[in-house]
Amino acid sequence: MKRGNRPELLWGFGLNNVEAGKIEDSLGPGFFLRNFSERALPGEKELSNQEKPAATWIPQRVWDELPEDRRAAYRNLDSTQRILIQDSQSGADLEKVLEDGFLAVISSPLTSSKVQDALFRAKEISGLYGDLYRMTEEIILERELLSRKTEQMQFLNTVLCNATERLEVSDILGQAAEDLKMLLPVYSVQGAFWNILSSEKDIDAEIFINPGQVESVQTEWIELIIENVVALSGLEVSSYNISETVPAVCNSMVYSPDAGRILALPLVARGEKFGCLVILCDRNIRLAKDQVTTLNAAVNHLSLALSNAIMFNKIKTRANRDGLTRVYNRRSFDERLVEEFKRHQRLNNELSLLMIDLDHFKAVNDTYGHMAGDMVLEQVARIFETTFRTTDFIARYGGEEFVILLPHTNEEQARMLAERVRVNIEESTMTYQGVSFNVTASIGVSSIRPGCLDKDTEVVRKADEALYKAKMNGRNRVVIFPTRPKLQVM
Ligand code: GH3
Ligand code: MG
Ligand code: MG
Repeated sequence: MKRGNRPELLWGFGLNNVEAGKIEDSLGPGFFLRNFSERALPGEKELSNQEKPAATWIPQRVWDELPEDRRAAYRNLDSTQRILIQDSQSGADLEKVLEDGFLAVISSPLTSSKVQDALFRAKEISGLYGDLYRMTEEIILERELLSRKTEQMQFLNTVLCNATERLEVSDILGQAAEDLKMLLPVYSVQGAFWNILSSEKDIDAEIFINPGQVESVQTEWIELIIENVVALSGLEVSSYNISETVPAVCNSMVYSPDAGRILALPLVARGEKFGCLVILCDRNIRLAKDQVTTLNAAVNHLSLALSNAIMFNKIKTRANRDGLTRVYNRRSFDERLVEEFKRHQRLNNELSLLMIDLDHFKAVNDTYGHMAGDMVLEQVARIFETTFRTTDFIARYGGEEFVILLPHTNEEQARMLAERVRVNIEESTMTYQGVSFNVTASIGVSSIRPGCLDKDTEVVRKADEALYKAKMNGRNRVVIFPTRPKLQVM
């Protein structure tokens, strides 16, 4: 051990004055010999001391007198090199000396060259030990670093694969909550994405929260997420929509914001901030520098995957929706009808269809202009959205004709809904460039009962036929396509 200008420590075990004097004289002032008396040899306290002696000098007579347990304790001492001083009379039993782990044996009477030579060797061996120790430590450290790096690479690979495999934002977020657990103690992952509105001061946000939360906790999260969106985007949230993440594991726990520490990380793709991840993790989390780098890399992967998913959904929406009214288009309706029909056949549930046509719409165009007609179509689509459930399927069938597919709805329920929407249309005042007017609609209803053997197109034909009757009977009314009464078993 380097001690600056202080002399280096040596130990002696019960050296007599001659031996101690010879050692001190031979080595000079650079060394300090602490000679323990035979009755008070170093114990636990001295042995665990920070400052280790460069060498320990032990006369044979002292060594031979030691009880076996003390001898064993000194034998295993690797913090100092032991040098045995042998009496001139007794010959050296080399085998025993080696067994006892002495570095060197020198015989009395001591001479300067014997002392210096023994110490030189002791220091050389200590130096070698030190080097070996340091190298071993370095290797262990390198190994740890390497295994940590490997783990981080595996983590990034998992995040990347899982995120790019998924096309829905809600799935990517649910899976990310699981994957991030490989790096840090994550409780939940939620997030928000935004569109900058044309004013360039406001944004429209889509907030993704975990399912299954009680309303008060949900509200806390929404407020917190909006706060972070405002802070990260620097813009105000003028409107937002709530969606749910899809957890990757069943029965995943739900947490309130004060259950841990919150990390709000911006999501950036193609140089633009478009959202943020709100991660709830253990309060006592401490991240090393390399873990922060890995987390950032993971968030970059997620950013790209999420931005692609958002784009994919926008394109899908554009292909599935009608450009003017934003309800589904005819093609989506045809596909959905087939799906719902299969479900009806498999699960034996009820299914109804409304076919809605605006009355004298040509006259609306002719009187108020084509633009006013477009505005009416948009307005009517919004009335549908507020009247029907999200599980109902609203589509523009063509021109001023809409269809509404109502799963799990029987004829009577469908008739009531049709009547409600007819009244809602009739009672809504349309205003275009300061001129107000009203429109009405005729509605044809057809329903299929469980076990019905009709083809899917049949339900459309029947609704169309009922609609034709509604027009014939004077418009602004609901007509049901008559289903045959159920056979009564007597
Ligand atoms: P009816 O009560 O018998 O249904 O009479 P109608 O005038 O509504 O029916 P008709 O089929 O004679 O005319 C439909 C009109 O709807 C004609 C067409 O110009 C108009 N229309 C169809 N699509 C659009 C559209 O996208 N925008 C506007 N403004 N008008 C449209
Ligand atoms: Mg019409
Ligand atoms: Mg029509």
